Amino acid sequence: MTRVAIIGAGPSGTAQLRAFASAQQAGAEIPEIVCYEKQSDWGGLWNYTWRTGLDSAGEPVHGSMYRYLWSNGPKECLEFADYTFEEHFGRPIASFPPRAVLADYIKGRVEKAGVRKFCKFDHAVQDVEYDEASEQFTLTARNLIQNTSTSEVFDYVIVATGHFSTPNVPKFEGFDTFNGRILHAHDFRDALEFKDKDVLLVGTSYSAEDIGSQCYKYSVKSVTISHRTAPMGFHWPENFQEVPLLTHVSGNTAYFKDGTTKDVDAIILCTGYLHHFPFVDESLRLKATNRMWNEDLYQGVVWEDNPKMFYLGMQDQFYTFNMFDAQAWFARDVIMGRIATPSFDDMKTHSEAWLKREATLETDEDLIWFQGDYVKELIEQTDYPSFDVEGVNQTFMQWEKHKHDDIMGFRNNGYKSLMTGTMAPKHHTPWLDALDDSMESYLQESTDTDK
Ligand SMILES: Cc1cc2nc3c(=O)[nH]c(=O)nc-3n(C[C@H](O)[C@H](O)[C@H](O)COP(=O)(O)OP(=O)(O)OC[C@H]3O[C@@H](n4cnc5c(N)ncnc54)[C@H](O)[C@@H]3O)c2cc1C
Repeated sequence: MTRVAIIGAGPSGTAQLRAFASAQQAGAEIPEIVCYEKQSDWGGLWNYTWRTGLDSAGEPVHGSMYRYLWSNGPKECLEFADYTFEEHFGRPIASFPPRAVLADYIKGRVEKAGVRKFCKFDHAVQDVEYDEASEQFTLTARNLIQNTSTSEVFDYVIVATGHFSTPNVPKFEGFDTFNGRILHAHDFRDALEFKDKDVLLVGTSYSAEDIGSQCYKYSVKSVTISHRTAPMGFHWPENFQEVPLLTHVSGNTAYFKDGTTKDVDAIILCTGYLHHFPFVDESLRLKATNRMWNEDLYQGVVWEDNPKMFYLGMQDQFYTFNMFDAQAWFARDVIMGRIATPSFDDMKTHSEAWLKREATLETDEDLIWFQGDYVKELIEQTDYPSFDVEGVNQTFMQWEKHKHDDIMGFRNNGYKSLMTGTMAPKHHTPWLDALDDSMESYLQESTDTDK
């Protein structure tokens, strides 16, 4: 029997599990599947951990999410086409759920599909090799509870380990003697740590935008955001400033390229993440940066050098959960022989057209339409339920506008589901005042607290 290994059970890996389950429900015979997950449960980044550094088994901590994290985009843009929020929660809910609510939604779909039996939790994959003669992979994983390693042979391998967990950490002169805390966004856990503090954020990524907002919500004294190329340009509160690149620090003083300085208590490096797959043999290893189209991946998924190897979710992400679904359904159909991969040269030619278009992208809007077209191309090739991708793009456009109108208030907006047509209800409490991020609090009906 054909054997398939999935590495990682976050949103991408669980999308893959769900894709196979859906084929099985439709009567197809599916391959034997083993999903290796180094955490004790599925959910990927959406599982909160207080840990930083190494976990209890000496593995790098995967989690980069923090307390009080709320979805940074409308849930309507990431909704699964085969399992809506309304189906999961039994009624419409507001558009920007906190982490725990999204974790519950991701897990609900795969619990319902009954695919937990395919998962080996507490197993970190350490090595993946391909043998040309047998045309099979040998995968070695460490059981983190028993501290034992075992190897198994597979016909296909799908890497779904994410790319927002290995921090990219630049060094600036004076860091060695800075009199405060320096951390990467990967290790940020709780904005309350920075209450009444002057904080410097380096970078203009989503992390900088959201960590800055979190710190504001939880009473930071000031936020200084240092950019390399351009400021984010939102209408920040009065205690925010955007400055050019940090050049060095001395004592507690940060110096910037335009000659200005700021005394700060902490420096948070929002400087992105590395695509890092040390457990994959170099001949199979994706070497990528956070961009819209990765070289070497046909349809953004299939490893062109060996089309028995797949990578899910490796792009820069506007689209998330339903893009991972589109990719997983595609990978499933290649594995099940429903989609034939073209010759190496034809795969390259296909990618080149996307790479050429990628080079023309300038604005966030361009990136969103690009990714929407990519998702559309994928879902047209499989039986993933077709959905209104252009409607999702339009929702992203409204969201972008709402962010530029009011960076601290954009989460108070509601959007229409592209899957059910239902308009999201307004959340009972404006985001800035909603300090309780529990699922129980979020799911309270508006009328409960409106009074
Ligand atoms: C701080 C932060 C906030 C975000 N906020 C949002 C948001 O609001 N909305 C949104 O849509 N997206 C958000 N994202 C994007 C996020 O990338 C996706 O939502 C999603 O989690 C990606 O899913 P994934 O399965 O590809 O990767 P991950 O969620 O990273 O899951 C990968 C899984 O692989 C496992 N794994 C890793 N290495 C191994 C190994 N060697 N062996 C076995 N298992 C392994 C990990 O334990 C993990 O469970 C955010 C990301 C970050 C970092």
